[in-house]
This record gives sequence, structure tokens and C-alpha cells, in this order.
Amino acid sequence: MLAALTGCNQSYSQVQQTSPVPKLKVVTTFLPMYWFTKAVVGEDKVEILVPPGTEVHEYQATPANVSAIATANVLVKNGINLEQFLDGTVKSAQNNQLKEIDASANIESLAGNPHVWLDPVLAKQQVANIRDGLIAANPENKATYQANATNYIQQLEKLEAEYKRSLQKYSNCTFITFHNAYPYLAKRYQIKQVAVVEIPEDQLSPTDVQKAISAVRQYKAKAIFGEPGVDNKLLKALSKDLNLTLQPLDSLESGTLDPQHYFQAMQANLKTIEAACK
Ligand SMILES: [Zn+2]
Repeated sequence: MLAALTGCNQSYSQVQQTSPVPKLKVVTTFLPMYWFTKAVVGEDKVEILVPPGTEVHEYQATPANVSAIATANVLVKNGINLEQFLDGTVKSAQNNQLKEIDASANIESLAGNPHVWLDPVLAKQQVANIRDGLIAANPENKATYQANATNYIQQLEKLEAEYKRSLQKYSNCTFITFHNAYPYLAKRYQIKQVAVVEIPEDQLSPTDVQKAISAVRQYKAKAIFGEPGVDNKLLKALSKDLNLTLQPLDSLESGTLDPQHYFQAMQANLKTIEAACK
């Protein structure tokens, strides 16, 4: 009796839904979230709030960001307090239909550090979280989201295997960074990051330089890694004095909009770390 009634209700609602299902408007915060989401969504448009090349850690939201969120169905964020601009922005957008996907849900953070996307294993978890959130928001597209996510996750597994194979020879290799972006990567592959400063900056204080020098000596560091695209004369001079190579290591907070950029940049990082640890 009940089943018959439910069946009747279902066919009634199906009759009502003859108009085409509207597309989801999906907004993401910064590049890695854009890549992972775009890879899962496929053809349909995905928006990005933090323009590539703009620093995410101290990003200030624009009025355009507020309107983007106001009209969005889904917002994908990294979480772990990286996108500090979001709280006020989401509030201002007053969109009570908005579904937020926290890509770091169920990922155990290391001292609240947000850079989980730099560990290919955790990146897989982020892609799966995004996939599940999108399916919940738009079940009609489940098959597409699943197929696309599986494809991207397979590429991440390949990358993960390469990292493992290459870095297992260099366990405990220690490197110095000026951006505390690699604790997850280091933990996964048993290498060691010593971060002299938390977030990237062009101007290092004399104290930072002193910290770098003592860290190099204390940990017998193999390399100094700077930010790609930043010509930092101070770091150059410092690495020369310490007789260490200065290489760019990419935190993937900038780059192109192509979801494949993740793999290109991660491959380049692997080569950089290998060369430094040899
Ligand atoms: Zn960062």
C-alpha cells in the first residue's frame, strides 16, 4: 500500500520535472581546488575566486567574489583555515541555498597547516571529497562525476608511485624552505622540511636569515628552496655563502588553469627534491 503510494508520488514529481535540469554553478577558492573540481566536473564551467598569481594566504575578497558566491550552488574550499577571506564573504553573499564542500573533510591536519594538496595521497582524498559533495548537490550527474574523478585519481596514483619510488632512497633528507608548505609531503615520503618563515615573502628580516643559517648547520640541510618566479637576491647570496643550491619549489598556489598543471608542477618538484637530496 505504502509502496504503491510512494510510486505514485514519484511518477507525479517526474511529470513535474519535464523542464531541463539547470546546471550547477560551481565556485572554487584557489588553484588546486579549481583543478580538482574542474577535473571532476568536466565540460561545465567552474569559477575561481582567487585569481591565479595572487597570494591566497592574505587574500582580500572583492565585491565580484561576493556576487559570485551569491549566485552559486556550490562552493569548494580547501579548508583548514587557509581561505580566511571566506567567512565574511560568504556572510555578505547571503546565499542560503549555497552548499559548501570542504575538500579537507576527514583529513587529519598537521598543526593546522593547510597545504594538504602537496601530498598526492591526500590530494586523492580531496578529489574524492569534492566528487562526493558534487554528487550530493547534483545526483543527476553522478556517473559523470564518478568517471572523471576515477580518471584523475588514477593519475594521482601514478604520481604517488613515482614519488615513493624516487624518494625512498633519500629518507631524512632535510631541506630549508621559506614557506611552510611541505609538512604533508615530507611526512609522507620521510624527508624533512625546516621552514624558516610561515608564508612566502619577498623581504626576509635579518632574523630570518640568521634562522636559515643556523637551521642549515643544525640539520645539515641539503638544499634551500625558494618560491618559483621570485628572484630573491638575499636567498641567492645566502645559498652561495652556505654552499647550497637554491632551487624553486612550487607550492602550487600559482600556475595555469589546466587541471593537468598539478601533475606537471608536482613532477618538477620531484626532480628538484631528488637533485637536492642526491
Ligand atoms: Zn602556502
